[in-house]
Amino acid sequence: MDEQRREIPGGGLYIENGFFSRVGRTEDLPQTADQVIDMHSHIVLPGLVNTHHHFYQTLTRAVPAAQNANLFNWLKTLYPIWAKMTPEDIFVSTQTALAELALSGCTTASDHLYLFPNGSRLDDEIEAASQVGLRLHASRGSMSLGESQGGLPPDSVVDSEKRILADSARLVERYHDSRAGSKLQIVLAPCSPFSVSAELMRESARLARHYGVHLHTHLAETQDEEVFCLEKFGYRPVGYMQELEWVGQDVWYAHTVYTNADEVNVFARHGCGVAHCPSSNMRLASGIAPVREYLMRGVKVGLGVDGSASNDGSHMLAEARQAMLLARLRSALEGASDSHTESAWIMTARQALEIATRGGASVLGRGDIGSLEPGKCADFVAFNLDRLDYAGALHDPLAALVFCNPQRVNWNFVHGQAVVKEGELLTVDVPKLVERHNRASRRLLE
Ligand SMILES: [Zn+2]
Repeated sequence: MDEQRREIPGGGLYIENGFFSRVGRTEDLPQTADQVIDMHSHIVLPGLVNTHHHFYQTLTRAVPAAQNANLFNWLKTLYPIWAKMTPEDIFVSTQTALAELALSGCTTASDHLYLFPNGSRLDDEIEAASQVGLRLHASRGSMSLGESQGGLPPDSVVDSEKRILADSARLVERYHDSRAGSKLQIVLAPCSPFSVSAELMRESARLARHYGVHLHTHLAETQDEEVFCLEKFGYRPVGYMQELEWVGQDVWYAHTVYTNADEVNVFARHGCGVAHCPSSNMRLASGIAPVREYLMRGVKVGLGVDGSASNDGSHMLAEARQAMLLARLRSALEGASDSHTESAWIMTARQALEIATRGGASVLGRGDIGSLEPGKCADFVAFNLDRLDYAGALHDPLAALVFCNPQRVNWNFVHGQAVVKEGELLTVDVPKLVERHNRASRRLLE
């Protein structure tokens, strides 16, 4: 995933102090090191970058009443369950989501936590994540527009705007690290147009720019949202963002399914990023995002597994596969998959992996991750190709990762440190975590 998109048979990586210092053929690298790992028969990739998630939703996967609902009904079913969460629930669900992400090839994860019931704080997530070992972009989300004010969420899960802004400033000052190799960044993230006020969006943007942190929100996810924005604000979702100073290099949106050509150009012109969440968009019957248009216009596109109540898993490699397949379906529906037409476009496995790595890095504003290059963070994952699932696909191992059934990694390194070794997560006791997680989940659903 370097500028030339090199693929190096018999390649090797040489790491010093958490960064790659040499990338090339094994015989061209130094022949000794403090530690040498033989990855014969493995394929090595840059660590995948997840640009949208709600870790806490791992507690409410496959909830029967929310299985067959569209976004607004799904949310209304789940809000009262989420309102029962405690700091312990935030902690345990963070570790569950990150464990899954690590095993599926992710080395940098963004999360969007936007409700803080019963004394929960973003600090609970940050502490849990630091034990797992992935890089974290923790979004301080928020909801302030309850039902009584014309918003979607019940009043019991919204907060005062004064408290939201004060806590946002506290978190940035306490945790945000913008240096190369940073393992923790804070993002300000009012939840969506239908759950916060225009004032909170504006004030959050001003605060983020004061501190130089990024902004994130859900946008143009469903047709219901478009109708809501037109009726309540007199704008389509993207126009509303422009009105609120919510466009720029420092802004990325989750979903953006319903955007027209002018709006795609707005994103391109201002450098806004997109977190494409294909599984969630299918799960909630939301629609198909115009990824081809984004890529052709030069819009930054990353990949997100989205919250685990609408996926219902945190498998980054599987998400890359979904992105490829769904883009192909959209091409077919638009008549763009016919190889006889000039506008034919079929997303390739390499494009899907590019979105999942380089694309995600650019969406998060990270110049130091997303590729295997000297000077970049030593974040990489490896898959053993010698397994049943890849049998017969080894003429193109890179494509096999995406075309064949999505597998777990054998190795995952963040900043040169192993998080997964020979298929085992080193940082968390998974069976204990699953037990603790299921206990928490049962209590919420009681
Ligand atoms: Zn989301």
